Amino acid sequence: MDSGSDAERTGTVLMQGQVTGQAGWDYAPAPEAASSVTLASEYGLFINGEFGPAASGRLFPTVNPATEEPLAQVAEAGEEDVDRAVAAARAAYAGVWSRMPGTERAVYLYRIARLLQERSREFAVLESLDNGKPIRESRDVDVPLAAAHFFYHAGWADKLEHAGFGPSPRPLGVAGQVIPWNFPLLMAAWKVAPALAAGNTCVLKPAETTPLTALLLAEVCQQAGLPPGVLNVTTGAGSAGAALVSHPGVDKVAFTGSTEVGKEIQRAVAGTGKRLTLELGGKAANIVFDDAPVEAAVEGIVNGIFFNQGHVCCAGSRLLVQESVADAVLGRLRDRLAVLRLGDPLDKNTDIGAINSRQQLDKIRELSDAGEAEGAERWSPPCRLPDRGFWFPPTVFTGVSQSHRIAREEIFGPVLSVLTFRTPAEAVAKANNTPYGLSAGVWTEKGSRILWLAQRLRAGVVWANTYNRFDPASPFGGYRESGFGREGGRHGLGAYLDV
Ligand code: NDP
Repeated sequence: MDSGSDAERTGTVLMQGQVTGQAGWDYAPAPEAASSVTLASEYGLFINGEFGPAASGRLFPTVNPATEEPLAQVAEAGEEDVDRAVAAARAAYAGVWSRMPGTERAVYLYRIARLLQERSREFAVLESLDNGKPIRESRDVDVPLAAAHFFYHAGWADKLEHAGFGPSPRPLGVAGQVIPWNFPLLMAAWKVAPALAAGNTCVLKPAETTPLTALLLAEVCQQAGLPPGVLNVTTGAGSAGAALVSHPGVDKVAFTGSTEVGKEIQRAVAGTGKRLTLELGGKAANIVFDDAPVEAAVEGIVNGIFFNQGHVCCAGSRLLVQESVADAVLGRLRDRLAVLRLGDPLDKNTDIGAINSRQQLDKIRELSDAGEAEGAERWSPPCRLPDRGFWFPPTVFTGVSQSHRIAREEIFGPVLSVLTFRTPAEAVAKANNTPYGLSAGVWTEKGSRILWLAQRLRAGVVWANTYNRFDPASPFGGYRESGFGREGGRHGLGAYLDV
């Protein structure tokens, strides 16, 4: 199926500048200026404090998913480059960073945090160009949270002996960190900030489709005067990630991405003595009870699955709604979706941006088609998709049964599967009927019910009357097929210490 047939199936999602029809008024286009970013035609690897080409000289393009136009060529790291990066990280660890007092490490982390804030517009625009996410999200969520992670961990750097890990906790050494494309800068911050605060050095492998903000972060580290080799960025394909995690010079592996690759990494690391944390996929239940405030719950459902085009590991991709209020909730949900604005990620009015890659778009289409073929009912608001780029309309499936693929598999797109329940026990049973265990949401006005559910939901994070809330002080992570280990808070710090 091509993008044209998605558009036909759904009729017309509002594009920037179109009249909403019913309301009879319109948003004027409000594009953020792309000129706040100066794109280079070529980007190098960041090793030992300097940008330079890959040993092979190979480059790969990174494209703007909203237009399919190339943004830049980026150096493709091979084994030799990964080896050089790990050696630089090892030398920086042994010679400088692990010996530096925490008070001094904190100075660098505070500097990086402040530079992220100072250059926030540049980061937000670059993230939206490379990833396709709306500028409103990169500006208001990704970049401020990334800065917050550096501020938070800067605060820990000189207080590690008071963190409850014994009188003088030691760092692990060199951390090999592999991150995905859904929150490129934020995932870099989640990985790098605690590692550096604890006294480790890093080699970071960004996702192939979104390398640019990690390289801008490297530039910020240079600007902050971070000693050479403390952070290294090896852009490239999955093979560069594989070379990094299996490199004998790496002491700690941290990975965020698909469950499939997570399992491969676990196999590669098994028996090596390397520490490992895996933050993998999810199929979270967002549970709405009959006493929930409907308007707030609908906002939570929309935020749960349509934030970041649903490219969120903890997305509330299964809505479990109590049968007695299902019609009312779904009616309000449809009304709300009808006024979401899909289009130019750089427009400040945009709610839903582009799908990150053709490969991901194909996966979303394939699973959505499977949903229809298996008998679920598909609905999208009237919606016209742009002619170029990778787009998918917000989509809701009703009549979903637990055996359907769309109720079991991570779609990682703006697709919601709706199931109903009658009793709290049934809600728990359905919510837990997944191999994943990353997150869940509960909407009810009863505090006792929230606590009852939180004890029974097998998920690393349970949000109550809210969804997709993140804070650097709050540990995040899952179990079962969602991985293990925590990021954020004291727990996340512990993952980078020899404790
Ligand atoms: P991957 O898990 O393949 O990618 C995540 C990161 O791992 C990327 O940097 C990738 O590099 C790298 N990588 C790939 N193969 C290896 C390997 N063998 N060893 C080490 N690193 C490797 O996710 P995809 O981007 O392919 O997405 C596939 C699916 O995964 C999505 O459709 C979605 O369902 C799920 N996903 C889940 C995420 C989550 O946070 N839970 C995040 C991203 C995806 P490269 O980009 O070059 O391939």
